[in-house]
Amino acid sequence: MKKIYCGNLGINNIKEKVVLYGWIANKRKFKNQIFVDLRDSTGLIQLVFHDISDPLLTKESCIKVEGKVQKRLEPNLELSTGEIEILVEKYEILNSAKQIPFEINKMTSANEDLRLEYRFLDLRQEKMLNNLKFRHKLLLAIRNYFDKHNFIEVETPILSKSTPEGARDYLVPTRRIGKFFALPQSPQLYKQLLMASGIEKYFQIARVFRDEDLRKDRQPEFTQLDIEMSFAGMEEIFSICENMWKEVLKPFGYNIKTPFPRMNYFDSLHNYGNDKPDTRYGYLIKDLTNDLKPFYPDGSFIKAIFFDREIFENESIIKEIFSKNNGQNLEIISPKNSQSIDKNKLNTIQTLINKQEIKNPTIILSIAKKEEDALKSLGAIRVLLNELYHLADPNQLNFLWIVNWPMFEYDEETKTYQAAHHPFTQIEESTFKYLETKEYEKVRAKSYDSVLNGFELASGSIRIFDPNIQKKVFETLNISEKEQQDKFGFFLKAFDYGLPPHNGIAFGIERILMILTNSTSIRDVIAFPKNAKGIDLLSNSPSIVTKEQLNEYGLNLKEKE
Ligand code: ASP
Repeated sequence: MKKIYCGNLGINNIKEKVVLYGWIANKRKFKNQIFVDLRDSTGLIQLVFHDISDPLLTKESCIKVEGKVQKRLEPNLELSTGEIEILVEKYEILNSAKQIPFEINKMTSANEDLRLEYRFLDLRQEKMLNNLKFRHKLLLAIRNYFDKHNFIEVETPILSKSTPEGARDYLVPTRRIGKFFALPQSPQLYKQLLMASGIEKYFQIARVFRDEDLRKDRQPEFTQLDIEMSFAGMEEIFSICENMWKEVLKPFGYNIKTPFPRMNYFDSLHNYGNDKPDTRYGYLIKDLTNDLKPFYPDGSFIKAIFFDREIFENESIIKEIFSKNNGQNLEIISPKNSQSIDKNKLNTIQTLINKQEIKNPTIILSIAKKEEDALKSLGAIRVLLNELYHLADPNQLNFLWIVNWPMFEYDEETKTYQAAHHPFTQIEESTFKYLETKEYEKVRAKSYDSVLNGFELASGSIRIFDPNIQKKVFETLNISEKEQQDKFGFFLKAFDYGLPPHNGIAFGIERILMILTNSTSIRDVIAFPKNAKGIDLLSNSPSIVTKEQLNEYGLNLKEKE
């Protein structure tokens, strides 16, 4: 008798005797028969049991059956095996299941924390299994692509030193009391050292860790496709990446057009109100500062979106998102409330409307003292409008590059300049002069982001390989000589021993998986993720350790405040 997988059975197997293993996905009684849908990793098949009543044959129990394949009287055409069924002759309950905590394959109705606590049951869902299968196939295709182009995958340490991505580190205490490892926020310095080692073409499917506030597209640990090349400029790395997506996504039915469009960072900010524009839909931001100046004499910036529907039913969520994103003054003007508006202002607005393609629009105005606040708050509303009114085509993939970034960002809290990407990013030569004149906002970085459908998919840059420029950047960032040596000394040594020109990029694997599998959360493409609060509910970690363990590390816990 042959062992066979459920999904591999077909009409050709009729009359064969087969052995199957799997889980009871469904069970229904009809007269003296029991119909069971048996599920394994390949699919479902209907089993027919005669004259049995076994209380252990419960939903999600794991069983073995032997039986004969026969034609189904009422075929189920939705199922690939729907024309046949197994007439069970013998069965064995390998492990009977208790009452399951949620219905498998009804993902949307199950509480997510419960799904995470019983992740092994959750992963039995078809959608979750398919996500894991897709993840595997995609990573395999990526590895093959880079192998074909003579890149080599090199693993870099997990127990390492703080890296320069700027998030909070996860620290690992050691028995060398007072000394800690940091889990890598990226393999950044190691991959640059691999260039100093002469590897030339490196990639890695790397696990990285960042202890930062979580959102739907973030996890404390995630996977990056990390790439670095020597003697290759921006154009070469762009085309390697573009062709990679084109090639690896083709077998999944995607027809990716290359080259990807490029957008200047400042154009993105002014038109979309963020640095990761979703270009699948319009409603770009318009600058009405000059037109409406007379009505806002305090010198504010006035930005607008002309929208073609009434949005009053969603006003409260719109207001909430607006203020969460530093919005200051929000005005929504539509034909519905226009009577209450100052006549002169309305006349001016009417002239502006006449210039638009949209007739009778709702105008969403964001008015703020700082231009960036006016833009970013409106950009967040534009993203929300898409969530509320489904403006983007879900089947479209709009890849693009964001280029020409600022090198430094001013941090209001610490009153210092920070690297917008990281401190090893090359400066655009034509803006070197602004380092001398201390006009740091005008310094541009040779960095780039890859954006897909409103998500930041990757970021990368041309790296500094001249020690004098590196020194200048550290000076601007106020990183003392001592701090440079403490933090990055192991890397800076390479600047004295033939460091080649190099550049690289890193893609967030879960983000692209989330988009391609139409998942609402990054958690749905990770086998064992943390929940939205960073807790692993399956293993119940992080968890308390014993006094003895703390002692070994020379650690004492503070009393809770
Ligand atoms: N290490 C950077 C990051 O994780 C990527 C890079 O510069 O290659 O964003």
